[in-house]
Amino acid sequence: RDYINIFGILIRNVTMDEAIEEIMDVMDGSEKKQFCFVNPDCANIAYKNRDYFTVLKNCHYVLGDGIGIKIAGKLLGNEIKQNVNGTDLFPRLCEKLQKTSKSLFLLGAREEVIQGVASWVKENYPNLTLAGYRNGYFTQQEQQQVIEQINDSKADLLLVAFGAPKQEKWIAQNQAQLHAKVAIGVGGLFDFYSG
Ligand code: UDP
Repeated sequence: RDYINIFGILIRNVTMDEAIEEIMDVMDGSEKKQFCFVNPDCANIAYKNRDYFTVLKNCHYVLGDGIGIKIAGKLLGNEIKQNVNGTDLFPRLCEKLQKTSKSLFLLGAREEVIQGVASWVKENYPNLTLAGYRNGYFTQQEQQQVIEQINDSKADLLLVAFGAPKQEKWIAQNQAQLHAKVAIGVGGLFDFYSG
């Protein structure tokens, strides 16, 4: 089947390649779309937090992050094709991006962490267009300036790492103003690749 239903959240039953294909397709399209990752912990939060639940419901594409989703799929009698988690997806996505003219903006995590990820990307994917990056600690007053920085960078793809559900809600609230075609909440991903 195409989806796994966890507490009413429809998780796509896709492979890593299919997920990347969809991200690339949306970047080539005319509409802006939100993608997200959901692990059992997120599903639990969404069960109690209806705002977050609504945001997940409205996401274009929900990916199941981690082995817990695979197990849940099995228990629900729906064998999931692949564990499409952010940590494995990120390097593959970078690999794909560097073969195209599509550019990337990284938003979130602490200053030293985001600088570390930016260096990691530049070192490992020299042909990737890293349009910009910024740490994830800013005030409400600074928010408009952050959005302008992202838009001025002309990035096609925006990864937001504020942790769930903050990042999903932030994307949903600001996507109308953002120009990037694709925005994805990636949780603690940057901490993993900051070196
Ligand atoms: N973070 C941020 N701004 C905030 C709160 C958190 O940039 O206002 C970052 C934090 O530095 C860390 C990430 O968001 O890099 C949260 O990672 P966590 O592992 O908690 O997220 P999860 O994977 O659990 O969603």
